[in-house]
Amino acid sequence: MVVSGPSGVGKGTVIAGLLARQPHVQMSVSCTTRAPRPGEQEGREYYFVSAAEFERRQGTGELLEWAEVYPGVFYGTPQGPVTEALAAGVDLVLEIDDQGAQSVREKLGRRAVLVFVAPPDFVALRRRLTGRQTETPEGLRERLATARKEIRNMGLYDYLIVNDQIEPAVQALEEVLRAEHHSLQTTDWRGLQARLLAQAEHDEVASHG
Ligand code: ADP
Ligand code: 5GP
Repeated sequence: MVVSGPSGVGKGTVIAGLLARQPHVQMSVSCTTRAPRPGEQEGREYYFVSAAEFERRQGTGELLEWAEVYPGVFYGTPQGPVTEALAAGVDLVLEIDDQGAQSVREKLGRRAVLVFVAPPDFVALRRRLTGRQTETPEGLRERLATARKEIRNMGLYDYLIVNDQIEPAVQALEEVLRAEHHSLQTTDWRGLQARLLAQAEHDEVASHG
């Protein structure tokens, strides 16, 4: 499940709410060239790497997708955990930007579900982003400019969640996850189909002798 939307809209907050309700859900840990914020831990929020190391990973195919999210700042999703999650049927959440979401759609098609988190209005977005007190004035400008581009792409997503109040937004994300467990697009249904057809064949032979 790919969760995107403007910086400061509350993706992290809503995803944390989902994880509290659904502890089996795993998070994809991205690598980034940005510096850790106070309190961030290597391997928990991100793998913090140098520009040279990031470039190396881009070259080796270790990344499912990568993007220059802000000028000179790179982020990428390690491929390994995604491959493993798809094979094992584990729910994995990628909190990545819109460019990354579109790359994932290209690579995985509908095996990934794309969720766009929108603010109820732009004033709320600015208020949340400033309220978080993590950005410099320049960072704030970049994030709000990027937000416009991302909002233009919201029509490319499978689901839209408007994060007005936190709890209903968490509930909505949980509902998306539940619905996707029943989607033929994201479920490995062919095994069940083959088994049922084999049983039907057997059933017919048994009942008609
Ligand atoms: P993102 O991960 O999208 O960048 P965060 O989860 O860090 O955003 O949220 C940005 C700020 O907005 C945080 O201070 C968070 O507490 C606050 N926030 C999140 N959701 C809501 C909401 N529904 N109403 C008001 N504030 C919110
Ligand atoms: P932040 O620096 O605030 O942690 O994240 C900034 C932006 O980078 C967010 O919009 C987040 O979704 C995005 N991001 C985080 N990891 C990745 C990633 O692996 N790939 C892409 N494309 N974007 C990411």
